[in-house]
Amino acid sequence: MIELDNVSKWYGAFPVLSGCSARVGKGDVVVVCGPSGSGKSTLIKTINGLEPFQQGQLLVDGVSVGDPKTDLPALRARIGMVFQNFELFPHLSVRQNLTLGQTKVLGRGLDEATAKGLGYLDRVGLLAQQDKFPNQLSGGQQQRVAIARALAMDPIAMLFDEPTSALDPEMTSEVLDVMVALAKDGMTMMVVTHEMGFARKVADRVLFMDHGKIVEDSPTAAFFSAPQAERARQFMGKVL
Ligand code: ATP
Ligand code: MG
Repeated sequence: MIELDNVSKWYGAFPVLSGCSARVGKGDVVVVCGPSGSGKSTLIKTINGLEPFQQGQLLVDGVSVGDPKTDLPALRARIGMVFQNFELFPHLSVRQNLTLGQTKVLGRGLDEATAKGLGYLDRVGLLAQQDKFPNQLSGGQQQRVAIARALAMDPIAMLFDEPTSALDPEMTSEVLDVMVALAKDGMTMMVVTHEMGFARKVADRVLFMDHGKIVEDSPTAAFFSAPQAERARQFMGKVL
């Protein structure tokens, strides 16, 4: 589903991604962790073409992301992305947030889009909040709306960049519950997070990044029992 082959990116002379290779199969859940500045956000954003890269090959569902002929907006419409800071449209109600992309990008009629959006809103436990505006919701509720909005687009995969790092522990667990359910439903997911409980529960593999390199790519059980990379061992000693 997602295949990175030696993907490299520089900001000027600074290597932000160095020879990154990884595979995320259909239905796989891959957690990406590592220290601040190691390139996790950059890596995840290259996958839907939000960050260009200079070297290597990146295929998403067989589509070459780096190919200048690729229709990136079309690709992006098929990949759900959830960020740290929710990024709901502040001037739109929850219901309008859920339908806008579906009507504008996918060309669905409003009735169909509303039915679909509210179906996902119900799944994240927020159907009663449909007429509220984002600033009337808690952070955890906003993030669950953001997930429902992404799902309403029928994505082939979901990318998450520290979706819970702006939330308190209670809101974090509300959001993680939704993500665990999604993983168990078979969604293909790539998740930047330091929530190791989530990783243990649902990840198939854990990638650890350091200085732009994927220094470890291990099955979850192996990662937690004995991380191979020295940097990962040090880091895990601090987060667990
Ligand atoms: P964090 O855990 O803090 O979110 P991260 O692992 O997501 O960190 P990135 O945001 O991908 O790291 O950044 C990787 C490196 O690239 C950092 O050293 C950062 O300073 C640098 N960087 C990011 N964006 C730019 C930019 N537009 N220009 C120059 N350098 C950048
Ligand atoms: Mg980041």
